[in-house]
Amino acid sequence: MAKGIMIVAEQRDGALRKISFEIASTARKLADQSGDEVSAILLGSGIEGLAAELAKYGVDKVFVGDNAALEPYVTEAHAQVAAKIIKDNDPAIVLFGASVQGKDLSARVAAKLAAGLATDCTDVKIDGGKLVATRPMYAGKCFGEVVFNVAPAMASLRPNVFPAVENPKAGAVTKVDVAVDAPKSKVLEVQKDTSGKVDLTEANIIVSGGRGMKGPDEFKILEELADVLKGTVGASRAAVDAGWRPQKDQVGQTGKVVSPNLYIACGISGAIQHLAGMSSSKCIVAINKDAEAPIFAKADFGVVDDLFKVVPELTAVCKKMLA
Ligand code: FAD
Repeated sequence: MAKGIMIVAEQRDGALRKISFEIASTARKLADQSGDEVSAILLGSGIEGLAAELAKYGVDKVFVGDNAALEPYVTEAHAQVAAKIIKDNDPAIVLFGASVQGKDLSARVAAKLAAGLATDCTDVKIDGGKLVATRPMYAGKCFGEVVFNVAPAMASLRPNVFPAVENPKAGAVTKVDVAVDAPKSKVLEVQKDTSGKVDLTEANIIVSGGRGMKGPDEFKILEELADVLKGTVGASRAAVDAGWRPQKDQVGQTGKVVSPNLYIACGISGAIQHLAGMSSSKCIVAINKDAEAPIFAKADFGVVDDLFKVVPELTAVCKKMLA
């Protein structure tokens, strides 16, 4: 009978991503309720040393697949190995991150195993011995609860929503014999973000600008505020479509889904497609000169005023407070 909770950890360039600790901690919390074991799948090349870091966040056992064919990440190879490890070990629950890589991998693995998959979950619990996953539906207009009829129950967890909590366990390493079929596709080039800024999906603070910014140069005032707050700049699709910001900065339904501790929306009206990407932020501040803008219905704090007046003042105050 299927038993235990397995996570699929994510690493890049030999370092575990923050989402790996978030899913490990969530799995630990669920396992402590059900008395189960937490195991992890860790794939890549030269990554065995990372198992100890996963153990710090509550992982009892780590299945390490170490093979040059698994680096850099290629969907086919990772899906093949992850699906085999899951099949061989028969966990009741498998958790992924709903990161770009996790979304890609989880769908492929679920299809291989004919398993159910709840994507981009904002809550998970065990009820009556079954995983119950909460996920946004209709671009975040409502939330649905998903239960599973077959094992393994698979879910991907939205980054930055679940806390990473240290809870050291054994992290015993089991090396997996990895035989990877020749993939039909190969990675030709990986273009790395050299800005040195934290990726939007992992940022704790985001200062975002929309059409109200009026042009690309005006984003400088958001960069200044973000620098003071050690945050990252995001944008609405209107700002991206106008060519003021790169696509990687777009927040929303067709951009990135973010859950920072603080999201400051400047000159953004709050269209449903934008809200779909940021409404799970822990604190939302809106600066908009139109008191009727829908963003205020979602905001925890609102400033009805000209952003070109408010943002520089806010930057100056924060600079003084944080000095
Ligand atoms: P606007 O709606 O034009 O709002 C600009 C705001 O700035 C206004 O509220 C105005 O009052 C305010 N403003 C102007 N000047 C000032 C000033 N000086 N001071 C203060 N406030 C000022 N959008 C996304 O963002 N992300 C997505 O991923 C996305 N995906 C989409 C997918 C589909 C299929 C579709 C159809 C649309 C999508 N959109 C997305 C577009 C979305 O519908 C909106 O058009 C877009 O979000 C609007 O961007 P905005 O709020 O910057 O612009």
